Amino acid sequence: MRFGIHVPKQGSFTATARYADDIGCETIQIFSGNPMAWQIGTLNPEDRDGFVRIKKGADIDPVLIHTPYLINIASPEQRLRELSTGTLVDAMVRASNLESGPVIVHAGNHKGMGVAAGINAAHSMIERVLAFSPPEVTLAIENSAGMGTAIGVSLDELAEIVGPFSAERVGILLDTAHLWAVGYDLRQPDEVDRLIDDVRRGPGLERLWAVHANDSLKELGARRDVHAMWTDGRMGMRAMRNLIRCPELQGLPIIFEVPGETAEFDRVRLSSMKGRDRRYGRRPVRSASV
Ligand SMILES: [Zn+2]
Ligand SMILES: [Zn+2]
Repeated sequence: MRFGIHVPKQGSFTATARYADDIGCETIQIFSGNPMAWQIGTLNPEDRDGFVRIKKGADIDPVLIHTPYLINIASPEQRLRELSTGTLVDAMVRASNLESGPVIVHAGNHKGMGVAAGINAAHSMIERVLAFSPPEVTLAIENSAGMGTAIGVSLDELAEIVGPFSAERVGILLDTAHLWAVGYDLRQPDEVDRLIDDVRRGPGLERLWAVHANDSLKELGARRDVHAMWTDGRMGMRAMRNLIRCPELQGLPIIFEVPGETAEFDRVRLSSMKGRDRRYGRRPVRSASV
């Protein structure tokens, strides 16, 4: 496995890569731009070069590019669909410029149209986005926590969303807090087995490209999404250990999305996951949610 964090944007992309290298990331996730805006902002060529040089030198790979939360690939509204498509294409272009990817997007909400119509809407948007994006950039759909009118809640729904597209171009990302929210009790080894079976029977293991390793403050199956550190969530380190031991997940990027508050904390968190430091969990930290 390759361990990393969602790196909060430092002053520049270059500084972000340097921070990731400093704390020992083997992989990272960054936002394509401001997560709460449709506009992606400019990318200065020198900053781009600095980012690429450092991430290559430090072997930080892959670099996941998370898209803004405003995007809804299943939206029934024409205006939102236009904005979402444009912002998603911008993120794909940004990933290409940064020699990065996959681009990560949430599965979206059907807003009352029903799951089947939502999945159809997602298909047409993904098709357009791929057509207007650099051909080497890949796209991964993140599973939902099951709130409101979300699609992509079950592995079967994710399979339907990605089904029409090449497994080389469109994959999935699983967030452990969202899996917990829809009833996978990852503290139990046989529940991890059930998850892997569902992936295999649904989208297929070859489509599973990355994991967001978040704990949750809410109870199992609550369909609520409040991320937590592994030290103070409901799943705890037992679930984390089950994931680390799961043979089917070996080689995948594992991203901690909950911010560690200090660089030193993140350094310890990563090295303990890599088995080189046993301090994780002993350091008092406040919970955080994203
Ligand atoms: Zn996530
Ligand atoms: Zn979440």
